Amino acid sequence: MDLNYDSNNIFARIIRGELPAIKVYEDEFTLAFMDIMPQMPGHLLVLPKVEAVTLYQLPDEAAANVLRTIKKVGKALEQAMGVEGSSVFQHNGSYAGQTVPHLHFHVVPGPLKALKAHASEKMDSDQLDAIAERIRRAIANPV
Ligand code: 5GP
Repeated sequence: MDLNYDSNNIFARIIRGELPAIKVYEDEFTLAFMDIMPQMPGHLLVLPKVEAVTLYQLPDEAAANVLRTIKKVGKALEQAMGVEGSSVFQHNGSYAGQTVPHLHFHVVPGPLKALKAHASEKMDSDQLDAIAERIRRAIANPV
């Protein structure tokens, strides 16, 4: 994978609004949306709005911003899905399994052993919409 940032990668285009995504949270610095091939129901992707391919290229201030969003949406994800735990992970470079060259964190509501294969099966968009709505409501109404 080319570690020089390609500003036409799909996640850059989603950030710019050129491609659709089922968003659950957005602010000036970050964006969170549903993974279209979830490894379990509720699988979210959280991105910094910064031109970085890997975590190691991310400025510290942007890292703080994206972690703040991960904490917010991850907590809401647990609440929305009614689970007691979640996992956060990300890949750096194709050697590690990264397929989209814009830094992103996976947030999944459950144990790693329950994960389906990476990027293997699309979920129906009505189902994704319904789960996204539950997550948005939990973000708006944290317990
Ligand atoms: P990576 O392999 O880079 O860590 O993860 C990329 C993730 O993006 C995969 O989990 C894959 O299912 C997801 N993905 C790939 N293309 C799209 C897309 O166009 N929209 C959304 N929402 N997710 C995508």
